[in-house]
Amino acid sequence: MKVLVINCGSSSLKYQLFDMNDKSVLAKGLVERIGLEEGTLKHTPKGMEKVVISEKIPNHKVAVKMMLDALLDENYGVLKSISEISAVGHRVVHGGEKFSGSVKITDEVMAVLKECVDLAPLHNPPNIIGIEATKELLPDVPMVGVFDTAFHQTMPEYAYIYGVPYELYKKYGVRRYGFHGTSHRFVSAEAAKMLNKPIEELKLVTLHLGNGSSISAVKNGKSIDNSMGFTPLEGILMGTRCGNIDPAIVPFIMEKEGLSLDEISNYLNKKCGVYGVSGVSSDFRDLEEAAINGNPRAQLALQIFAYQAKKFIGSYAAAMNGLDAIVFTGGIGENSYVVRNMICEDMEYFGIKIDEEKNKVRGKQADISSEDAKTKVLVIPTNEELMIALDTVALV
Ligand code: AMP
Repeated sequence: MKVLVINCGSSSLKYQLFDMNDKSVLAKGLVERIGLEEGTLKHTPKGMEKVVISEKIPNHKVAVKMMLDALLDENYGVLKSISEISAVGHRVVHGGEKFSGSVKITDEVMAVLKECVDLAPLHNPPNIIGIEATKELLPDVPMVGVFDTAFHQTMPEYAYIYGVPYELYKKYGVRRYGFHGTSHRFVSAEAAKMLNKPIEELKLVTLHLGNGSSISAVKNGKSIDNSMGFTPLEGILMGTRCGNIDPAIVPFIMEKEGLSLDEISNYLNKKCGVYGVSGVSSDFRDLEEAAINGNPRAQLALQIFAYQAKKFIGSYAAAMNGLDAIVFTGGIGENSYVVRNMICEDMEYFGIKIDEEKNKVRGKQADISSEDAKTKVLVIPTNEELMIALDTVALV
């Protein structure tokens, strides 16, 4: 059975085609700069060189068509006929409170997704456009939606209600939703396998650290809290997002800097985080290099990042009354031994102690804790696409 996984952004479309018999990736690719002057498709078939096609890609339907043409191409394609695609799984950012798991996409589901646009105005519209474009070109293929928010629907009310009038929750859905759920779910399940224990008996803190970062408390296999909130702006500071700040700062800088509503939202999402603090970059590779070369603000940005992550680990250990393991994933979590080291430093009180040699791993599963550490520290590369493909198979 072959399953196509699609992740559609406002000007991009990522895809992977899986052979679910052995869970291998037959081809993967990325369509970028949709709607701009010149777009590109980068297509990598299994075991072959990457193919790059540059041309104007006016909209998502054209992007989907280019992806399908690449998959069927006689030179670099991997399919003889489009009918080989048994199902399509779509990543959807926001499922609101309606979806606590993945679902088969029906007209009713599409209507609910449109209702959720208000909650994720940047992310859900391109997801919806991507689904509609794919449905038009593959009308008979069953499709599944996998939501970033779904895994966190098990949070208790006291974890998701904010200290604002309760009516705001009822009227507008103002509450914590949590994000990166597919990744937190994937790495928690992998952690249980690595620890050789049933997930129902584990207390985990999973740290998805990338351009966007979120941290989850996963107790007995269920998410009970996540550092991201109503939107993916909350939590620890990120590449360019501010994370938790005193809400009073928002009207203060709007007034001082003369910013409109749109401008402040853009400012908090794009100009802050480690980029804003360091003035160097939002990319942790650049930051680490600048820090090593003695740039004090790059050093400060890394210290703030590690300190805030540490505080989430401590607070989630308190929330779960214990901690069996912490799991690092995402571009930074999987690759940066510097950041992992900074986060795990001076955490013996929580039973966390890493082995410096074992920590020198990049991008593969590893237990990096010291022999005598009570709490395991694991590095687990995330695989949201495979999780989406597995959910898709289960539902169709
Ligand atoms: P993601 O959003 O998960 O793709 O993660 C992107 C982030 O991972 C960027 O800040 C990268 O700088 C960071 N990253 C990727 N590789 C490394 C590395 N080898 N060392 C440090 N950070 C890295």
